Amino acid sequence: MGSSEGAAAGAGAMARLPGIDRILRRPEVEECARAYGRALVLEAVRETVDGLRAALRDGADGGRPAALPADPDGAAAAAAIARVRAAAAPSLRPVLNLTGTVLHTNLGRAPLPECAVAAVAEAARSAVNLELDLATGKRGERDGHVEAWLARLTGAEAATVVNNNAAAVLLVLNTFALGREVPVSRGELVEIGGSFRIPDVMARAGCRLVEVGATNRTHLRDFERAVGERTGAIMTVHTSNYVVQGFTAAPDPAALAALARARGVPFLHDLGSGTLVELERFGLPHEPTAREALAAGADLVTFSGDKLLGGPQAGIVAGRAELVAEVRRNPMRRALRVDKLTLAALGALLPLHANPERLVREVPTLRWLARARPEIREVAERAAARLRGRLAGSAVEVVDCASRIGSGALPVDTRPSAGLAIRPSAAGAGAGADGRNAPPARSVEALAAAFRALPRPVVGRIRDGALVLDLRCLEREDDLVEALGPLLEAGSGGPDDGEGRPQTGSTGAPPGAR
Ligand SMILES: *Cc1c(COP(=O)(O)O)cnc(C)c1O
Repeated sequence: MGSSEGAAAGAGAMARLPGIDRILRRPEVEECARAYGRALVLEAVRETVDGLRAALRDGADGGRPAALPADPDGAAAAAAIARVRAAAAPSLRPVLNLTGTVLHTNLGRAPLPECAVAAVAEAARSAVNLELDLATGKRGERDGHVEAWLARLTGAEAATVVNNNAAAVLLVLNTFALGREVPVSRGELVEIGGSFRIPDVMARAGCRLVEVGATNRTHLRDFERAVGERTGAIMTVHTSNYVVQGFTAAPDPAALAALARARGVPFLHDLGSGTLVELERFGLPHEPTAREALAAGADLVTFSGDKLLGGPQAGIVAGRAELVAEVRRNPMRRALRVDKLTLAALGALLPLHANPERLVREVPTLRWLARARPEIREVAERAAARLRGRLAGSAVEVVDCASRIGSGALPVDTRPSAGLAIRPSAAGAGAGADGRNAPPARSVEALAAAFRALPRPVVGRIRDGALVLDLRCLEREDDLVEALGPLLEAGSGGPDDGEGRPQTGSTGAPPGAR
């Protein structure tokens, strides 16, 4: 019935469509251009007007012709400015990691302790003596800022730092075994997430992998047979993210070290997470420390800076001085070296590892790993009390869960934890296990997406139709309540009305935030 009527209204509105030049001359838009640059603002205004035109022509939602707002120019200017701000907002944002995986690679692994944050900020702001020996005025070595601490904490004679542990492994292999063979146990040909595979890294380092033994059992005699003229190094790799269980055998590292020494090749040990302290102190199972691996005879160990060390992304090579010197002379090191910010963070972090009490107080990763379930549950109870009845009818329940360390550290060990299970009103109750009856707007996926779209995104994981927030990495419930603010209805603890919808429209998040 109203189709010709609608078309007429559309044509009239089309004539009143805001003009690009007129919008650009508005004071608020000119101010925006001064802040963000003319080109970006022009692009945003064009896109806004194009969007309006398309809406008038094709109709807005439901096929009904869109109406122009009362003040078309003002509305278009505001929309364009919002677009510019969203485009200029940093894409990298702080999130709440409530996934239950403490060292989550996709979430940037270890947050730094405050002393390291301060050191990074200071180094970032200023020129620093990165490669200047202040005593002599001569050129210094950038590793010098952390080497003494690495030596003290591991018992190594020397150490060097590169971009990450993958780079450390690549660099040591390339230094000692370019064009040569490296025997590795078949049980240790590990793939870490994100396509780091020992066999592939070997190939890119220019080495030939020689697989030794069987998947479950490798013996010293297997290595003895494999080591020959062409061998460049013997390597052992921490099976970070899996375990070989049952009928297993691996040669004693000390015996492998003796074999390597007898044949005149270095014995390399990739520790992966590489802890510097006894994890038993934090109620965690034992992980071989860098000191133990070196004491057992490794000539060089390699490990990450942002796993159990709780520091910045970095790869550490520590061990015998003449071998570290050779690693430093490899031209590839220049491409893999770290900047002043990483060294500043490490320089502040490492001394904490000499004092376990301070370590567990100040390094977030270790503090979180050390938390026991009752403490986490208390935070969960307080958070639940403030969220119940305010999340569009979603049920909020305190649940027990199990956290993981993540990043391949102690893969089968979980830590008893607690958190919140949030079940969308209709989907949780009515839908079958396949969730097919769930209206899309209320699905648990939509709830998770709304949490991710918040100005400070909240990342949990979906389990059995609920969004589960493991609160191991949340120390103050205020942080969660604040982050969820834009989704919360007024009041607290009210009864579920069962009629609410997730309020995803008013988050203030930049459009397209995913
Ligand atoms: C994690 C890991 C690596 C890679 O370390 P990054 O710091 O992530 O580059 C290498 N080897 C092992 C055994 C690991 O666990």
